[in-house]
Amino acid sequence: MKDAAPQTFYLSDYTPPAFLIDEVSLTFRLAPEATRVISRIHFVPNPDTTDRSFFLHGEQLKLISAKIDGHDANPTLTPHGLTAEVPDHEFTWEAEVEISPATNTALEGLYMSNGMYCTQCEAEGFRKITYYPDRPDVMAPFHVRIEGDLPVLLSNGNPVDQGEGWAEWSDPWPKPAYLFALVAGDLRATSGTFTTRSGNEVALNLWVRPGDEGKTEFGLQALKDSMKWDEDVYGREYDLDLFNIVAVHDFNMGAMENKGLNIFNSSAVLASPETSTDANFERIEGIIAHEYFHNWTGNRITCRDWFQLCLKEGLTVFRDQQFTSDMRSEPVKRISDVLMLRARQFREDAGPLAHNVRPESYQEINNFYTATVYEKGAEVIGMLYRLVGETDYYRALDMYFQRHDGQACTIEDWIAVFEDATGRDLTQFKRWYTQAGTPHLTVTEEWVNGTYNLYFKQETKPTPGQPDKQPLVIPIAVGLLAHDGSEIVPTTLLEMTEAEQTFSFDGLTERPIPSILREFSAPVVLHRDTNNQERAFLLAHDTDPFNKWEAGRALAKDVLVRMITKGTKPDTGFLDALRQMALDDTQDPAFRALAMALPSQDDIAQTLYASGVTPDPMAIYGAVKTLSRAIAEHMKDDLPALLAANTVTEPYLPNAEQSGKRALANTALSLLSKLDNGAAAQAQYDAADNMTQQLSALSCLIRAGAGADALAKFEQQWHGDRLVMDKWFGLQVMLAEPEDAAQVAQTLTERADFDMKNPNRFRAVFGALAGNPAGFHHPSGDGYRTMADWLIKLDTVNPQTTARMCSAFDTWKRYDADRQAMIRDQLERIAAKPDLSRDVTEMVERIMAA
Ligand SMILES: [Zn+2]
Repeated sequence: MKDAAPQTFYLSDYTPPAFLIDEVSLTFRLAPEATRVISRIHFVPNPDTTDRSFFLHGEQLKLISAKIDGHDANPTLTPHGLTAEVPDHEFTWEAEVEISPATNTALEGLYMSNGMYCTQCEAEGFRKITYYPDRPDVMAPFHVRIEGDLPVLLSNGNPVDQGEGWAEWSDPWPKPAYLFALVAGDLRATSGTFTTRSGNEVALNLWVRPGDEGKTEFGLQALKDSMKWDEDVYGREYDLDLFNIVAVHDFNMGAMENKGLNIFNSSAVLASPETSTDANFERIEGIIAHEYFHNWTGNRITCRDWFQLCLKEGLTVFRDQQFTSDMRSEPVKRISDVLMLRARQFREDAGPLAHNVRPESYQEINNFYTATVYEKGAEVIGMLYRLVGETDYYRALDMYFQRHDGQACTIEDWIAVFEDATGRDLTQFKRWYTQAGTPHLTVTEEWVNGTYNLYFKQETKPTPGQPDKQPLVIPIAVGLLAHDGSEIVPTTLLEMTEAEQTFSFDGLTERPIPSILREFSAPVVLHRDTNNQERAFLLAHDTDPFNKWEAGRALAKDVLVRMITKGTKPDTGFLDALRQMALDDTQDPAFRALAMALPSQDDIAQTLYASGVTPDPMAIYGAVKTLSRAIAEHMKDDLPALLAANTVTEPYLPNAEQSGKRALANTALSLLSKLDNGAAAQAQYDAADNMTQQLSALSCLIRAGAGADALAKFEQQWHGDRLVMDKWFGLQVMLAEPEDAAQVAQTLTERADFDMKNPNRFRAVFGALAGNPAGFHHPSGDGYRTMADWLIKLDTVNPQTTARMCSAFDTWKRYDADRQAMIRDQLERIAAKPDLSRDVTEMVERIMAA
């Protein structure tokens, strides 16, 4: 149903629940179109409030019966739940409802995926399962009985008992309804065990559909590594006898941390060398860790309300980033995270969808599972870590776990722990949670009689609903280098609190070269008037790997911007510096591969727009192509040797060392393909025994205009593997020539194996269209039109995924009047769809309001 006027929820309206729950029993009688859910819930008046109004959330439920203490409850049904007269003391609520998992294509609540039942309850899916106070500050132990004619019946917690066609589960840890999970189907487990440091043996299972058993080993090992790491680094142990992970093909998100029963998008857990790339392996390891770490940061300590989402997500992303740094390479991980932050979060912060890390209002909370909440939320934790130091950080975390275990908390609780543990006043720091937009930090310098002054100025531009901005606390890590490349002042943390502030360094014998914002110590845009000579110096000499990479990136951006705005030729100084970096064997291959990658087309558009230039996606596309070609020509004689030296000959392992070498080899291959029409790529394609090699060769062949044969072979080889075919779909759209991209996407949707009900397949095609900027923004307007056509179709099937993909249009104000008009037409067309979902209505309104 469509809300005539969708309700807006405000953080400031929070009131505590009138009733708490101390026991929940649920019985599920599974049937595809008529599942019965029988609930028995014991309510207790909340001593913290005098409010005794009784409201249970419920949507798309058929109520069969409802009783209070054994008597008919006679509830009043509303579009979003029910109300009833209740006693002012404790009572038992019993209800029976009917739901239809088979027709639930929104994939929220209980739904079916290839004959298997599964759930997704975060954020507000449980209200589609039964009537319940579906808010995270109501926590209760759950007892679950599942009846169904399927071999595997799973729920949260520990198994109690089971028989033919039934199973019972009990979760002793009080939890909010969003952490509820149920899975039933024909599944196979790969099993293992983990012994906690206090000696409890935990059974581990990774459940998959028959046929996927060969893709579980890596995920199971990643789980064990995560469990060990959380004990070693945070002192957190697992707290049940069993930990289950289930892979599901149809899933809106990456994965979900349900207590003891994590449910994963199959793309985020299934892996084998033949079918997964190095990047897939690293992502899977990170996601498994992330969901596991939620057991403490999210499940044991949860959020009071959904405005506090960053409390669990920012912290857990920070923890999974630490984990990956420890498992792999710290600098490479940091650079990758910053690349992602700039691509997704800075873009969001600079456009109509900008919002606080802790939002203050929403219509549909699903629209706030954003890069700002997750990635900027993690950066805020990273800044706290830097400001208080490692020892105090872990002391504060111990206090957080001790003080708030079993509670539903707020950002205020989190900040208070850090203040109490460290004695710091964090009032100003808290603005990072309450102020949207990316701060711009401008630095100028002065050298006077042996004193070196750095003068900083911070400014945050207005964002929707927030015209005035206050100065933030910005930790700025700085090192100073001498002209011979030696470090005269090692990394020092400056703590900026004013709008404008000067920091002085005394007793220096020469004017230093500064390396500012080392490790990317704060999520800001840094402006400094410098020249390419100095950037080349830092690229060669900076001891901070992040800033070394950053110097190369700044060089590349400067060259590209001048090519686009002034029509200059690729700069020889840049080509020399890049070549030197590429061939520097003292540097980690993974680092060199990152340093050789040019800024993304969207990144360049963002940079141009920020400097007052209207970006032309076609000109950006052309410049990147020209510069790549110039790099290839410049390194013509080096490329075969670089490729050979980094080609891994040992059996495939998805570890940091091998994947770094493959990344560098594939960078060389991609450049080489610009000169040899794809001959080397064809050879690699034919010989490849792992997906990393196969897919990179296929990409090179498509880019060289020689991919038809390999695409056909790839399809023939992999047509039975959905996850691999997603790559095949995506690559063709992502790498299509700008004028063809929309048509390629449209043609792919006409295939029998394009199923819009499957979010992975839909994203493979239309995420790739949005990820081909020159194709999406082609002057014909075909990209916009095709995207809008399909978003309108998908809205009826799956509002949540549709709403997320609307963000393809969020940069529209960057572009020229013609493009703006074409995008506005498409947004208006989406807005005019009858019965448009609440999710998409909110997104389109926010994007158009800009
Ligand atoms: Zn999470």
